[in-house]
Amino acid sequence: MRINGQRLLDDLYALREITATPGQGVTRFSYTEEDRRVREYLARISREYGFCMETDAVGNMRISPPDSNAATIVGSHIDTVRNGGWLDGIYGVMSGMEMLRTFSDNGVHTDAVLMIYAEEEGSVFGSTMTGSKFLTGKYTAGDLNELKDEQETSLLEHLKNCGYWDEDDFAKAFPMDFTGVDTALELHIEQGPVMDSEGLQIGIVDTVFGMHVLEVEYAGLGNHAGASPMKGRRDPMSAFGEAVTAIERIALDAGNGVVATIGKAAVSPGGSNVIPDTVKFTVDIRSNSNENTEDAVCRIREAVSEIAKARSVACVIRDVADSSAIPFSREVIRSMTALAEENGLAYRVMDSGAVHDTAMLAPYTAAGMIFVPSIDGRSHVPEENTKEDDLICGAQFLLDYVAAAEEQRK
Ligand SMILES: [Zn+2]
Repeated sequence: MRINGQRLLDDLYALREITATPGQGVTRFSYTEEDRRVREYLARISREYGFCMETDAVGNMRISPPDSNAATIVGSHIDTVRNGGWLDGIYGVMSGMEMLRTFSDNGVHTDAVLMIYAEEEGSVFGSTMTGSKFLTGKYTAGDLNELKDEQETSLLEHLKNCGYWDEDDFAKAFPMDFTGVDTALELHIEQGPVMDSEGLQIGIVDTVFGMHVLEVEYAGLGNHAGASPMKGRRDPMSAFGEAVTAIERIALDAGNGVVATIGKAAVSPGGSNVIPDTVKFTVDIRSNSNENTEDAVCRIREAVSEIAKARSVACVIRDVADSSAIPFSREVIRSMTALAEENGLAYRVMDSGAVHDTAMLAPYTAAGMIFVPSIDGRSHVPEENTKEDDLICGAQFLLDYVAAAEEQRK
């Protein structure tokens, strides 16, 4: 069976136009008019093919061929970041749709369903993977009011406005019962430079990086920039500067794929003629091994404290987030590897530095992910792109994998 590559590309080009920021990348937030228009696009195809389409109480959408028993979930998301790219999420969704259409066109039965996970990017509420977190019970009823957008509108209000909310459905559907679900799969762009630089077609994802985020506060002595001699200052900014390079050095020296990022810093009071009294910053540390991540966290804590001590600056370190690395199913990785070999594809087994909805499902079913290259490794920007051939190759691989797995289950 071959997918209709042109049909998939045509869908993606058409959907690229559904954005709140024409000419400036794709901006498609959950629970908005743009989001509704993409859902309508999917509904139109579903009607054409006689697929059943259901939306649950938090806005996850499920599209099933009439006689599918839903043993295989294929899914991704349709929302984007602000001024994001045209492929993140929607590529996996439309490839899943193309897979269902190809089965149908060829009169082949499938037990697959297509899942569109709601609010993956966290653009509205600042919290990622909202839909899949409800499905897996990480979010519960209390979070419906807790999650709020910038205007203080709660998730629950958004759901009511969109017409998704149904209290009885919510009580029944969450958390999801994974009985009978054999596999959950997601096809996604890599969003990093590895595959493009190595000329690969298919990435088979091994492990999603775990993450530990620290917040550090250095407090010194605020004072006049002119009247305070250099000697004897207790300047938290100087300590911060030293910490930045020390943290980078620790990650580089670890040599085991650990990455550490300082993405946020606040200087107080923030005047050009004032020695700051505090500098507060975050450190985001990730790797594919919990042990390596924690080892780096330990070293960073140590270094950050020592720098403070040497400069007579007070130091408080808080843990603000901590998530384990998530390995995908060994069986799925083995089967995907065999399929890539069989088809003579340029592939590699690799880790994902970004988290995805399907990783949330990994504790409940055999989960797996497929990557296609991102040109120059760019994503979450308007320049995000992938060669047409690679887009088609990834979608074909997804179909081949599902078809082979279903054949084997018979
Ligand atoms: Zn994504």
